Amino acid sequence: MTDTLAPVKPGRLLINGEAVDSASGKTFTTYNPATEEAITTVASAGAEDVDRAVKAARAAFEGPWGKMKPSDRQRVLFKLGDLILANAEELGRLETMDNGKPIFESKLIDAPMAANCFHYFAGWATKIHGDTLPVNPAFLNYTLREPLGVVGAIIPWNFPMIMVGWKCAPALAAGNCVVLKPAELTPLTALRIGELALEAGLPPGVLNILPGPGSVAGEALVRHPGVDKISFTGSTEIGKHLMKSAADSVKKLTLELGGKSPNIVFADADLDAALRGATTGIFYGKGEVCAAGSRLLVEKSIYDDFVAKLAERAKKMQPADPLDPKTRLGAIVSEKQMNTVLGYVDIGAKEGAKVVAGGARQPVNGKGYFVQATVLADVNNQMRVAQEEIFGPVLAVIPFDGVDDAVRIANDSVFGLAAGVWTNNVKKAHEVARRLQAGTVWINAYNFYDAGMPFGGYKQSGFGRDLGPDCLDDYTQVKSVWVNLE
Ligand code: NDP
Repeated sequence: MTDTLAPVKPGRLLINGEAVDSASGKTFTTYNPATEEAITTVASAGAEDVDRAVKAARAAFEGPWGKMKPSDRQRVLFKLGDLILANAEELGRLETMDNGKPIFESKLIDAPMAANCFHYFAGWATKIHGDTLPVNPAFLNYTLREPLGVVGAIIPWNFPMIMVGWKCAPALAAGNCVVLKPAELTPLTALRIGELALEAGLPPGVLNILPGPGSVAGEALVRHPGVDKISFTGSTEIGKHLMKSAADSVKKLTLELGGKSPNIVFADADLDAALRGATTGIFYGKGEVCAAGSRLLVEKSIYDDFVAKLAERAKKMQPADPLDPKTRLGAIVSEKQMNTVLGYVDIGAKEGAKVVAGGARQPVNGKGYFVQATVLADVNNQMRVAQEEIFGPVLAVIPFDGVDDAVRIANDSVFGLAAGVWTNNVKKAHEVARRLQAGTVWINAYNFYDAGMPFGGYKQSGFGRDLGPDCLDDYTQVKSVWVNLE
């Protein structure tokens, strides 16, 4: 358990390659949601710190980073990926203490995924280029694909380490410098990766890390005139707010926001595989996953049987100590989030849903913000539990009748982040994938990610893409050059 672990040193801001206190001297405490105990204190960034970090990033952009050969940038970023892998044990432990997720996830999935981002985008550093264009024989026409300058990255608490990779790796590979604001609830792994970045050879100022409240540090970053672009992952509510805040400086913005993703099980699917996919689709990451398959659509002919098996599986998924390698369901990130999740279970029950598994808080060793794996049956798509993002281990199961009904229900949402389709009929699988309004569709799978595959939302799940070659468009701009040859 946590109390037998080495103490975690206080966190400081990373500005211009140095660990510093905030200008105000303010700090905050970060807590372990599994034990409710303080982990350590962390410097809390304010507007003055944001200003210093943005200036350091600009100087690095105009100085060493901007002047570095892409092949040298590539080497540094690849080394950072290696260092993340080499330190996966420590990073996993920090992430688990800060966020409450099982060490199985943080060490064996999240740390390798963060490393995967740096390895993958390191390769792109030498392959981002413009074109020559056959416009007019009297001219030589070419384009330059250039970095934007200073990127502000604002990330959430559900995948702190992975999000550092998703945002920083492509931004840096494209030649930008970054000021990163981790969520106040989970600042520790971002700060550790900042140290590893220096060890990898990233020049001072290229990556600055500023923990602090969104309403202070985040807001200052979005409004700062020296920031060229904001890359944000978080709630739709804050995403909408950032669109307004970014308007004053016509700042580029990409938003990866909430979801209420449909996971559709047809009667002709491999039902054992679908059952596993439905379970991991919602309970992986405690359901605090933007793409969680939180609406399970099950064809009517198999509905009762499928729900019964699902409830049985959910009841076996007991919350346990997140630092135990066998644990698969950890603690909710905070008391506030736990209360939100439990509040939705009540809302669902009042709306007429049937709680067939879980539904309650279940402390581990007498402590912690643990919520049971919860299944709500007999949900209809108009209920709040089917329309609003709960962000916890709560699955709403909705019956449907045939392909058209499944597609209609699936698309009847303000969100459009991801979806799953389970069927052995290949024609049906592709037809449904095309008709779904979602940025990612998994067929006979759920919750797969790779640095090489774009990820982002349709509708109110946001715009712009993280990952894959496509995201590089969002971290670069194109300059057209006309050379008069006459
Ligand atoms: P937020 O959207 O508030 O937080 C995401 C990030 O934005 C954090 O770093 C936060 O900082 C920052 N932020 C908050 N306010 C501002 C602001 N005014 N200007 C700039 N940055 C800001 O998510 P919450 O943590 O409040 O979670 C609430 C709900 O959002 C969840 O229940 C869930 O439904 C959804 N959510 C969705 C996520 C997704 O990946 N789609 C991720 C996280 C949450 P700080 O936290 O330090 O104040």
